[in-house]
Amino acid sequence: MANREIIKMGNPILRQSAVLLTKEEILAEETQNLIKEMREIMKEAEGIGLAAPQIGISKHLAIIEIAEDSKRYPEKDPTRLMIFINPQITVIDEATQGFWEGCLSVPGLRGFVKRPRKIRIDYLNENAEEISIIAEDFLATVFQHEIDHLNGILYVDKITDMTLFSYNEEYVKFHIEEGDSFEQ
Ligand code: ZN
Repeated sequence: MANREIIKMGNPILRQSAVLLTKEEILAEETQNLIKEMREIMKEAEGIGLAAPQIGISKHLAIIEIAEDSKRYPEKDPTRLMIFINPQITVIDEATQGFWEGCLSVPGLRGFVKRPRKIRIDYLNENAEEISIIAEDFLATVFQHEIDHLNGILYVDKITDMTLFSYNEEYVKFHIEEGDSFEQ
C-alpha cells in the first residue's frame, strides 16, 4: 500500500522546476524505491503517467506505462514501463495535434491541449544509461505532459481555447466526439 498521496494544483511543489539527478543518485536505493512507489501510486490512481513532483518529490523523474490490460485506454497501444530521468525534449515536427488531457493533480477536469506531434526525448533510464527515443502521435503528447510536470508546468497552462476546458461529466456529455482523453 502506497503511503504517499498525489498532490493537487495549488500546491507550490507542482510549480517548481524539479532538481536533476546524478548517475550516482539514480542508482541509489532511495531512487529505486521511489520508482517502485510511483508505479504503485500510478496504478492505484489508474493513470498512465506520473511525475515525482506529483507526489511531492521535486526530482526530475517521471514514469509512463500504458498497461496491456488497461480498461480505461483499450484503444491505445500498450507500452512497457518507461522511466525518464532528466529528460530533454527536442521537437522534430512542429505540426500540432490536440488531445483532451486530464491530470491526476487536477482531478475532475479535462482540457483540450495542442502540442507538437513528433519529438525526440533524451533521458537517463533507471540504470543511469543514456537513451534517446522518438515519440509521435498520442505518445508524444503523453511524454510532453509528463515532462512538463518536471518543469513546473501543468496542462491547464497550455489550453488555448478556454471553452474547451471542462468537468469530466460535461466532457463526456458534450465533447467526447472531439477527441481522445487521458489522465496522467
Ligand atoms: Zn499530469
